[in-house]
Amino acid sequence: MRPTILFPLFGPLSGLPGLGPRLSSLLEKMTGPHVVDLLWHLPSGFIDRRYSPALSEAVPGKIISLPLKILSHTSGSSRRTPYRVHATDGTAQIDLVFFHARGDYLQRTLPTGETVFVSGKLELFNNKYQITHPDYICAPDEKDHVLKVEPTHPLTAGITQKTLNKALKGAIAIAPELPNWLEANFKQKRHFPDWKTALLEAHAPQNIEDLDPSSPARQRLAYDELLANQLALALFRKQNGSSKGIARFGTNKLKAPLAKILPFTLTDSQKNALREIHDDLAKEGRMLRLLQGDVGSGKTIVALMTLLTAIEEGGQGALMAPTEILALQHYEGLSDLCQKIGVTVETLTGRDKGKKREKKLEALASGETQLLIGTHALFQKDVLFHNLGIAIIDEQHRFGVQQRLDLAQKGQAVDMLFMTATPIPRTLTLTNYGDMECSRLTEKPAGRKPIDTRLVSLDRLEDVIQGLRRKVSAGAQIYWVCPLVEESEELDLNAATERYDLLKSIFGEDAVGLVHGQMKAKEKDAIMAQFVENKIKILVATTVIEVGVNVPNATIMIIEHAERFGLAQLHQLRGRVGRGAEASSCLLIYGHPLSKISQERLKIMRETEDGFLISEKDLELRGAGEILGKKQSGFPEFRLAQLPEHSDLLLAARDDANLILSQDPDLTSDRGKALKHLLYLFEKDAAFKFIKSG
Ligand code: ADP
Ligand code: MG
Repeated sequence: MRPTILFPLFGPLSGLPGLGPRLSSLLEKMTGPHVVDLLWHLPSGFIDRRYSPALSEAVPGKIISLPLKILSHTSGSSRRTPYRVHATDGTAQIDLVFFHARGDYLQRTLPTGETVFVSGKLELFNNKYQITHPDYICAPDEKDHVLKVEPTHPLTAGITQKTLNKALKGAIAIAPELPNWLEANFKQKRHFPDWKTALLEAHAPQNIEDLDPSSPARQRLAYDELLANQLALALFRKQNGSSKGIARFGTNKLKAPLAKILPFTLTDSQKNALREIHDDLAKEGRMLRLLQGDVGSGKTIVALMTLLTAIEEGGQGALMAPTEILALQHYEGLSDLCQKIGVTVETLTGRDKGKKREKKLEALASGETQLLIGTHALFQKDVLFHNLGIAIIDEQHRFGVQQRLDLAQKGQAVDMLFMTATPIPRTLTLTNYGDMECSRLTEKPAGRKPIDTRLVSLDRLEDVIQGLRRKVSAGAQIYWVCPLVEESEELDLNAATERYDLLKSIFGEDAVGLVHGQMKAKEKDAIMAQFVENKIKILVATTVIEVGVNVPNATIMIIEHAERFGLAQLHQLRGRVGRGAEASSCLLIYGHPLSKISQERLKIMRETEDGFLISEKDLELRGAGEILGKKQSGFPEFRLAQLPEHSDLLLAARDDANLILSQDPDLTSDRGKALKHLLYLFEKDAAFKFIKSG
């Protein structure tokens, strides 16, 4: 149960001052549903209203706040000419300018002969000072309310800064003092304020330094968030690692024959990874390991070898992919090999229904099916294994922690391997997986040729298409990826359809295909199949081809508006080519204007194919939030922590979390109890499953 002291923080936004049902639902979309979500919406800037010079010395363009004596009013002669109120501070004259003004109202608030206190942006117009629509007009004795630094925030349509400030003020007012969950020495050494103080300070920036991620208040809040993240992951890992596992050694009776029929020898990286995996499996505890390897680095065969260890001992293996296409491709890639060594493989996806599905489930429950390859469908309640020993989740970052758990619970002591083709920097591995053991495939299988990557301006689209004519007649197949528009599938589709129509008009109806995210799986697969069979020459796509798809004959990757993609995504896309014997190329088409950072990013793509290097650079240039795309990435979305800026805090949080759990595994000490508040505060309630006392 959530501690009562936190209740006010988890009340609805609609309970805050100034927010009716309409405004609160608008705001909710931006910040999240609870008061605490609003509190995490920190200022991105501020307006300093403390500048109060003599008018004759004031600098135009700045916000000024000063007392003015009202001299006279001139109402606008037409709708276009504004209403002007002439005033002076004794050193110079100024006009207060109002469009669409109501004269009687202005006469009342700015009476001729009186002095009022005004704040707004000073402009110079026709060599005269003016303020258009002042932000504040009040009595001179109320000026202290105005002469302040006012925080500003990212806003959303329909929510003004004034509305937000009012609601925030209310939210901060009901925020309780919370028990201290930080280690005292650490807190002191870092000059971290108490939680409530940190919250107050972060919301009241006085200067530019206060907005910096390195400010003590922001560091403190970020640390809390990272600690909650690391603690939850550590609890999960600890549970998984300490719960009784099975030491698996395998017998080699399947792996040895497999090695014989493989048309290649394993790379050193693959051998290394397998050694690490087998060491894990041979231990009593459960395996929890991450296998990172670039597209094409050969993770699938490592996966199969791993699963065979369980199967050799009479257990079952599961391999799960994020999409149906990928699951089926795994199946196609592996079923031949499995058949040759006498392992029964089956698939299970959302497409399986009725009788057919029942049969598959029966074969699984009886143990007849030794290896199951599928999608999310594997999580379903009625999917029961006879004896699941090892589960592998491919493209892991798309699944959440909860889902990993669900799969782990399908067997007695399931060993788990996560595979990701997104080479993510170490810092990001930590935030998503915690301190998990990690194997990396760093080399590409022998025989791969480097991909020739070029940058081309969108102005030269016609040249590009001309070039393609020659390539197509020489037998090449081409991917044409269309730009990402505002993360909206619908708009992506418009752009892709347009390009598809153009290419069809040039290369002919049959030579061009289109796949996009809104197609049914069946339709998509049908088009992909035609591309695999080399019937379609040019495949126009939105980013649905991003992961996994394997068409060795495709040697050209064209990415339109490449500057709109993340580097990791570009890298993934480029990895679709360069899979066969022929030399491959990648054209990154960019639009204008190209920012300095975009230029640098595209240059990195041209210079290297090393996914790990690319991801580190991407993190440097953009920050974590953007690297993998937002929602779909499954990465924790930090509200307060910023990466890479807070990387050192992340490492500290990891060490802290490990230390805490080694000393107080069930969080029963004073600090442990406070830490439970922290977990609730960041809604890591799921982690409580792993604490005895709950
Ligand atoms: P990914 O890591 O992207 O999942 P795959 O496992 O699909 O990569 O491997 C890509 C291709 O490389 C496959 O066709 C696979 O058969 C081949 N491959 C894997 N390992 C090797 C190797 N050691 N030598 C040569 N080819 C290999
Ligand atoms: Mg793969």
